[in-house]
Formats: sequence, structure tokens, C-alpha cells
Amino acid sequence: MSWLNDLSTELQSRRDQGLYRQCRVVDGKQSVELMVDGEKMLAFCSNDYLGLAADPRLAEAATQAIKNAGVGAGAAHLISGHMRAHHDAEMALADWLGYERVLLFSTGYMANLGVIASLLSANDCVIQDKWNHASLIDAAKLSGAQLKRYQHADMASLERQLTTEAERKLIATDSVFSMDGDVAPLTQMVALSQQYAAPIMVDEAHGIGVLGEQGRGAANAAGVNANDVPILMGTLGKAFGVAGAFVAASHDVIEMLIQSARSYIYTTAMPAAMASTVQASLEIVREEQWRRDHLQAVVKQFREGVQSLGLSLMSSTTPIQPVLLGDAHRALAWSQRLRELGLWVPAIRPPTVPRETARLRFTFSAAHSAAHVDRALESLAICQRELA
Ligand SMILES: *Cc1c(COP(=O)(O)O)cnc(C)c1O
Repeated sequence: MSWLNDLSTELQSRRDQGLYRQCRVVDGKQSVELMVDGEKMLAFCSNDYLGLAADPRLAEAATQAIKNAGVGAGAAHLISGHMRAHHDAEMALADWLGYERVLLFSTGYMANLGVIASLLSANDCVIQDKWNHASLIDAAKLSGAQLKRYQHADMASLERQLTTEAERKLIATDSVFSMDGDVAPLTQMVALSQQYAAPIMVDEAHGIGVLGEQGRGAANAAGVNANDVPILMGTLGKAFGVAGAFVAASHDVIEMLIQSARSYIYTTAMPAAMASTVQASLEIVREEQWRRDHLQAVVKQFREGVQSLGLSLMSSTTPIQPVLLGDAHRALAWSQRLRELGLWVPAIRPPTVPRETARLRFTFSAAHSAAHVDRALESLAICQRELA
């Protein structure tokens, strides 16, 4: 007998508390209409904001690239895994975003770990919005720097944290917050960043491809540039529909990451075919503005519909649209009823969100139609009638 045998007790207690997490198996392709355990579901939970994850052009680019460059990269970037397609994708992203350099990472989680743990150590301080993504919080822990958190989007609270003594201070924030869908007040943050000589790192996981001119992100939409936000992280598995992530920064910052970011150095490079597919996706992201326009239209239709049902929305203008239900059991019951009606909408409950702010978290995609939104609204009306 070892302690491993006691895990079943712990697992059961999670089940009893309604906290047990489970993956559901999706067959076929990613789509807003998913085959889940043999059932067709209309999904409002993906981050495939532009509907590109299963775009045939990306599948074709990936297939061609695999034929040309094979599947595996075989080694880490610094050994022999840095292939032409990685180099070209980095150049294309840097050019698009107006940064000196870009560095690809295998995932956004690893990019955040790499940046913060490489640039900061024990005598430094990273100042973060309280609602930042887990990867930024984990990165702070890994770096050994002091972690200070300010109240969500509260500039007075940020300023208090900035008065701290530390050799290096870095402000890190999500651009679009994943549970509320609101956007960080980047213009005000840039002013504080300059006043306190604390550079800003912005995580554009939910902003890149979706907001700004040509989908360059929330920072671009706020009119701030590479001088104001010297470190920009973006993911390639959400709106880009591919996989991986990148960091855009100055030449020196990128060189420092190459020297010392352990999540860059000690891991096999992403397949070159994925980097080729990123280039194909970038072209679509840049050129097909209609996807962002349609996404905005779908969000507007949903918000107007929810308001006329008398339900509570948050002030989000992004594709992340929570419907606030308050009580955790209520959110769960609505989510389950929606599931019976063929809709996949997760209930988000404490401790992920503050007490009494349990919610249904709808996320929208350019692949949703007006009819899909109507179905969501009709299904919410059914919940409202049955589960008042
Ligand atoms: C998804 C996400 C990440 C992690 O990116 P992956 O490429 O999925 O590892 C980081 N930050 C935020 C805010 C995210 O939403």
C-alpha cells in the first residue's frame, strides 16, 4: 500500500462536492456543431473565434508542409529543430505586429513561463491583475520574483503595488479577461508603466485575431504600440486555429529569452508544419475582416436578445459573453438543461469566479450564424421558464 492507493478517496470527495472534471470526446472536426459522445451539440464554448480551426485552407497548408518538411522537428530550437518555417513565421508575425522580433513557443502556457521566469528573479517583482490567467500566476511562482496582485482593472490598486521596492518591476496582464470578456485599461496602464519604469507584458490570448486593425489585438485597438507594450504574447491555438504561441518584443528581449527561457530551450520545437500553417492562418486573419465583422454582429444579436429576456450580462464587447446567474447551483442547473436541449455552454462557478457571480460562459465564433444565436436565446428562455 502506498499513498497512491488513497487517491480514490480524494477523487470521491471531489465528486461529492460536484468538482469533478472530465473530458468529453469530440468526433470529427472542430466546429460550432460538434459530435460529442455520439450526440450533436451546438457549442458556445470554444476559443476558435474566427472559425479557422477546421478551415480547409489550413488543413491543406498543414498537409503540404508535412509532405515537404515531415512531421517532427526532431530536436529543440537551439539544437537542430529550428526549421525554415519557424523562422519565416516569426518574421511574418513580427512584421505584422510592428515588433523587432518574435519568438515561437509550443504553447501559450510555456510562453508565459518562459518570459517571466527568464527576465525576473528573486529581487524582482511582477505585478499582476487579480484575474490574470493561471499561466501568468504560475510563471511568477516559477521565477522566484515577488508576486503582487492588484484588484481587477483597478488603476489605483495597480499604482499602490507599483510603489513597491524591487530591482526590476514588470506589470503583466491579460488583454481580454477570459471569464468576464472585458478588456484591460491598457492606455492608463501604459501611463503608469512609464511613470514607474515598470514595463508591461500583455497576454493577447483572447485578443489576437479578434480585436484591432487586421486582428492585431487589444493593444493595437487601444492605440498602444511596441514602445508602450514592450512584451506582447499571443496564442496561435485560439483565433488562429492552429497551435502554439509567440512572444513579440525587442531584439534584446528575444535574445535574452533564447539564452535563458527554459520552456523554450528544454523542449522539442513545434512541428514545422504547424509554423507553416500559422503563416497560412495569418494571411486569413489579416485579410478576412468579414470574420470579425460577423463575430461582432453575432455578439450584438446575443446581447440584445439576452437583455430583452431580462437576464444579466457583463459589460463585455468581446466574443466572451457571460450570462450572470449568481448562485452556483443555479448556473449548473441551467448548463445541464441547455445540454439536454443540445447546447454546450459551461457553467463557471467559484472559486474560478467570485462568490455569487456564477455564470454561463458563452463564447462566440465567426462560424455561428444568426440562427444559432436564435437557438441559444430560445433555449435560455426555456431555462428561464422552467428553472425560475
Ligand atoms: C489559453 C490561454 C493561455 C495559454 O495558451 P495555450 O496556447 O492554450 O497554452 C495563456 N493565457 C491566456 C489568457 C489564455 O487564455
